[in-house]
This record gives sequence, structure tokens and C-alpha cells, in this order.
Amino acid sequence: MKLNDLPTNSTWTLARRAERMNPSVIREILKVTEKPGIISLAGGLPSPKTFPVSAFAAASAAVLANDGPGALQYDASEGYGPLRQAIADFLPWDVDADQILITTGSQQGLDLVGKILIDAGSRVAVESPTYLGALQAFTPYEPEFVSVPCDDNGPLPDQLDVARGARFLYALPNFQNPSGRCMDAGRRDALMNKAQEIGLPVVEDNPYGDLWFDAPPPAPLSSHWADGCVYLGSFSKVLAPGLRLGYVVAPKTLYPKLLQAKQAADLHTPSFNQRVVHEVIRDGFLDQHVPTIRALYKQQCEAMLAALDKEMQGLGVHWNRPDGGMFLWVRLPEGMSAIELLPKAVERNVAFVPGAAFYADNADHRTLRLSFVTSTVEQIATGIAALAAAIKDVTP
Ligand code: PMP
Repeated sequence: MKLNDLPTNSTWTLARRAERMNPSVIREILKVTEKPGIISLAGGLPSPKTFPVSAFAAASAAVLANDGPGALQYDASEGYGPLRQAIADFLPWDVDADQILITTGSQQGLDLVGKILIDAGSRVAVESPTYLGALQAFTPYEPEFVSVPCDDNGPLPDQLDVARGARFLYALPNFQNPSGRCMDAGRRDALMNKAQEIGLPVVEDNPYGDLWFDAPPPAPLSSHWADGCVYLGSFSKVLAPGLRLGYVVAPKTLYPKLLQAKQAADLHTPSFNQRVVHEVIRDGFLDQHVPTIRALYKQQCEAMLAALDKEMQGLGVHWNRPDGGMFLWVRLPEGMSAIELLPKAVERNVAFVPGAAFYADNADHRTLRLSFVTSTVEQIATGIAALAAAIKDVTP
């Protein structure tokens, strides 16, 4: 019996979509890494140091004092009006508040998009590598994934023909999870011109765009072709992920279907959380708060790059130098597998995520993802030294 199957004598019969679901590879890996004393560079969590706890305490009290019954009542499926307006106001292209659907994390946005756009056997184009959570959200709708060839700057526009006829391209232009890469302005232009030329809609996922180090990334893909894009945003990385607060920006033609799917899924995102977030951000709070996250993550990223420069010399290991986000992408020397390296690394008290989990097909087994945000600078130095030692252990 596979981990996710029912016993053959079960009273229950699983739906085909449930049979396709798999336990998160990452969660399984993280279990291995829960041993005491391990330095985990594997997690995908934001740093809890960045959570503005006292702002939330004050905002919660204010919401309950000013609008307690509203905050505790059922709400509209579209979301809390003033929060939708605030989001429309801060997005950097022309968006109406009635195009905004508040979701229970952007992860729910991915599910709703899959629900209304994917039939069994539909082609869905993804980057290579791509966000594992999106593959998991779309898989129950039984798509056929098509990986678009990518370089360090994202999907290659002249390779987009492989995605002709797909329901959409799922794209992560800013500090991608897992690779940390960011598309430059020229790539965005060329990609969106080509997408429009072949009539390929784009689902743009942008939870990391605000976490830039020195300069903001170029304008969102959605600003190039608003009618052909669905945009997913999130408060998880700029405020706190436990709120489960994200949003979808949809073209007006698509909005009613997304709303019906949202209604059926959970009626609405918690009224209290929406009001509290609106209360926290209403007076420009993010303009002061987000720069503190950027500064912390930049410092941590620099510490990891310095440790890699020091420890990996002569080992034939390559890595990128992200300009923002939470992750850095490493490629091991030829012949080495990140999955095989992991137990050796765990023996030396350091953990990472093997990159293979992030590919829809043709996985590059030499890749791995490192998070630089939750460990201290000292832990990063120790962890990268341990990783280098593990690589030496398996070097022939
Ligand atoms: N998209 C990407 C690329 C992510 O990395 C994540 C979080 N790991 C999500 C979506 C989901 O974020 P949330 O549901 O917390 O908004």
C-alpha cells in the first residue's frame, strides 16, 4: 500500500482526484529534519522576527471596539470592501476594487483558479522549476503539465510555443519559489508579447515581490495585459502567514466564476482577519514595516552568500545571487544528487530541500533550495560549512 492509498478492503472508494494527491514531499523531508540541533535551511517560513505583533494587538482591540459584531458575523464572499479598495489602491496598475477577491491565503487563489480553468487533460504550462504548492493545487483537477524551458531570467519567450493551447501559463516573476530568480524588464516584455500573440493567458503569482533588497522589481506581468492575466497577491510575507490572507485580481469577465468557486469553497475569508489587516495597513504601516523585512533578509542573504563563497571553493558547486525574496538555488557538481546528499547533510546537522520536488517533469536532481530567512547569521555560517562537509563526503 502506498502512503496515500486506502487499504484494499476499505469501505471507502477514493475519487480519482484524491488518488492523484500525494503527501507533500517537502513536509515528508521536513519530518527528517526535525531532529534536535539541526540547522534547517529547508523551511519555507518567513522569519517570525518580522511579525508585527504589537500592531496586531492594537488593531484587534480597535476592530472589536469599533466593529465587533461586523468582525464576528458572516461576510460577503468578495471580501471586506475597504480592504479590497486598499489593495486596488496600492497595486501598481489600473485595478478596480470590484476585480479583487479576498482569499484564504494565495494558496486558495491557486485552488480556485484550478477549479474554474482546468478540465481533466487540459494543458497547464508551468516554469521549470516551479512552486510545488501550485503543482499540488492544480493536480486534483487532472491537468497535463507542460514545462516551459527557462534560464536564470525565467521562461524563454521563444520556447513558449510548447504551451500553445494551454489553459494558462503559471508564472512567478519575482524572486521565485524555489529558485529566487527574478525576471528583468526585457524578459517580461518579450514573454507577455509572445503570450498575447499566441493567446496564452497568464496566472501571475507574486507573494515575494515586496521583499527586494536594493531596487524594486519591474512592473507585474499583469500590467502588460490586464485582460489576459489573473494576479495572486498575499499578506503572508509582508505581515504574517498565519492570517491566511491573500487576494486574486481577475479580469471582470472571469470574476463571477471565481466568486462562485470561492462561495462554494468556504463562503468567505474570516471577517475578523480582514478587518484587522485593514486596520493595520490603513495609515501607511507597510511603508515603514516592509523595509525592516527587506533589511533583515538582505543581511541574511549576504551572510549565506559569504559562507558559500568561503566554504564551497573548489567543489564545483554553483549558486545564484538573488536580489530579494527568501530563497537561493544551488546546483551540485555533475553526477551528484541532492536527494542522496540530504541524509549525509542531516547527519552533519544541516537540512535543505532537494530541487527535484519543484519540477513538473525532467527534474534536475543536482539542484537544491536553501532558505536564508529563518536561521541566524551564525547558524547560516555553521550550516553552510556542514553542507560543504557533506558534499565532500559524497565527492568521489
Ligand atoms: N505562492 C508561492 C510561490 C508561495 O511560495 C506561497 C507560500 N509558500 C504561496 C503561493 C502561498 O502563500 P499564502 O497562501 O500564505 O498566501
